[in-house]
Amino acid sequence: MTSTPYDGLDVMPLAGAWRAGSSPDRFVDTDPYTGEVILEGQRASVSDVDDAYAGAVLAQRDWARTSPGERSAVFLRTAELIDARTEELVDWLTREAGTTRMRAYVEIGIVRATAMAAVTHTALGSRTVASDVPGKENRIYQRPAGVVAVISPWNFPLHLSFRTVAPALAVGNSVVLKPAEDTPVTGGLFIAKLLEEAGLPPGVLSVVIGRGSEIGDALVEHPTPRVISFTGSTAVGQLIPAKAGVKRLALELGGNGPMVVLDDADLDHAVDAAIFSNYWHQGQICMATNRVVVDASVHDELVDRFVARARDLVTGDPRLPETHVGPIISERQLAGVRNKVARSLDAGAELLLGGDPSGPTGRVLPPHVLLGTNDIPAAVEEVFGPVATIIKARDERDALAIANDTTYGLSSAVFTTDLERGIAFALEVEAGMTHVNDTTVHDDVHAAFGGEKQSGLGRFGGEWVLDDLTTEHWVSVQHVRRPLPF
Ligand code: NAP
Repeated sequence: MTSTPYDGLDVMPLAGAWRAGSSPDRFVDTDPYTGEVILEGQRASVSDVDDAYAGAVLAQRDWARTSPGERSAVFLRTAELIDARTEELVDWLTREAGTTRMRAYVEIGIVRATAMAAVTHTALGSRTVASDVPGKENRIYQRPAGVVAVISPWNFPLHLSFRTVAPALAVGNSVVLKPAEDTPVTGGLFIAKLLEEAGLPPGVLSVVIGRGSEIGDALVEHPTPRVISFTGSTAVGQLIPAKAGVKRLALELGGNGPMVVLDDADLDHAVDAAIFSNYWHQGQICMATNRVVVDASVHDELVDRFVARARDLVTGDPRLPETHVGPIISERQLAGVRNKVARSLDAGAELLLGGDPSGPTGRVLPPHVLLGTNDIPAAVEEVFGPVATIIKARDERDALAIANDTTYGLSSAVFTTDLERGIAFALEVEAGMTHVNDTTVHDDVHAAFGGEKQSGLGRFGGEWVLDDLTTEHWVSVQHVRRPLPF
């Protein structure tokens, strides 16, 4: 099926109409690999945020009254449109987010699965619970929370916006979405176009394109939203609760994933998984393996194999099918990654593989491998770049202590040929997700995705995502008049 590419992406859907933001400042969307300006437009202001919320309140009333079948039809059609527009989406993801083509297809597949899963959320239920009061019937109705604010990052923009937007809309909420400054189209406007074409009524989804530093507080502090769903850094996310006040919070924050390789691991398997988990999308993934923690008995062997594989990865233009490692999203992020490497070397880490950035914008950083201890900056902090830190552990107990010696707790992995040993180890890891004999980078729309410690609050996926997006309304019916105390 062919379709005309979406146009009119220099304006945004606000309270039911596509129009320019009313900020005097412009947003400029650039290709991180070539530096080419892809799109420009006027940013949203705080008054546009007010408009979006006012429109969301109005639109939500009617949307919540639509039938599950009507809402399902929107998501089934969205899945069809994603199929029809896959190449258009791949093009946007490579140009705007600097993703390799292979990575773009994976992200689009997850988003399609999320659209299909949304269909299963459209029919909210109710149940009755017994009462101690004679003649009393207690009914508990599951209801949409109301208006949901979604703030998302640039690294998996389509997926990380859609994973809240889709279930939130499916249950009858309206949404105001703020994508990251670096990915206004793939994180927001393209999603709005898809849903509009699929039949979502105007005003149910507004998208505000603007800087977090300028409109973020207005989005979070506003009295209208009942839920703030924030995916981004721990630095920004930890400020949200005090600003949000009495609202539900879904916070999906940074990670510092350990991949633990025990003494009986299949080393080929572990090395393949560690290479993927460290360098996929240039390491700009919350679930990336930040630290490879290796039992002393297999450490040297693993290091040799890991460095050999990392050296062979193809770096460069994300449009070329052979490219494994493309550009870092922005100058600021690149500078941050290089700074963490430099501080780690100052702290005593050994650089086994490195190199200078290349490409037209100088943002393609080749894979780096550091050998260090768990207290070097690259092990303590989330690096968010193509930098692996390998840490030697004395034994299994020491490996577990190192894995847990972090303020983060998002994804993690353990490699062992003894599956029961792996499961027992996994249950001791202080994290929301631990994969036995697999990559730390793994998402599944049907499983509970989320973090512990400073990595966040709440879960995406499956039925768990509804915990944050719905509320309960207790309606009791008194069937016979009951005696009152006075
Ligand atoms: P970020 O700087 O925290 O930004 C995330 C979003 O928050 C962006 O839309 C940003 O807008 C907005 N924002 C910035 N300041 C704000 C404020 N004061 N109030 C409200 N919103 C504000 O994070 P990032 O650099 O885009 O993303 C990388 C981080 O996200 C990493 O730490 C990564 O681990 C984490 N992440 C977590 C998950 C997860 O599921 N746990 C998934 C992906 C990424 P602007 O872009 O306009 O500044």
